[in-house]
Amino acid sequence: MFNNNSFSNKSNKKTCRNCGRYLARSNQGDLCPECSDEEIYAEVKEYILHNNVTELQVAEKFNIPLKQVKSWVKDGRIDYRKHH
Ligand SMILES: [Zn+2]
Repeated sequence: MFNNNSFSNKSNKKTCRNCGRYLARSNQGDLCPECSDEEIYAEVKEYILHNNVTELQVAEKFNIPLKQVKSWVKDGRIDYRKHH
C-alpha cells in the first residue's frame, strides 16, 4: 500500500452546502462543481428571460464557456429567444 500522508488530513474536508458531497481541496467556494453549475444555470436562465442577448454575451457576462451555454440551449434547459 501507499504511505500517502495526504489522506491523513481529514479534518479539513469541506462538503457541498447543497448536496453534501465532499469537495476537492482545490474547490472554490462551498458548492461542488455540479451544484455550482446549477446555481449559474438558474441565474443564466433568469437573465436570458429578461434580456435579449446572444449566447456569446451570456457566456461573457457569467464568465462561463460558450460551449456550456450552447449545451443548455441544446438540452432545452434554456428557452432561448431566436434572433431570426
Ligand atoms: Zn453539490
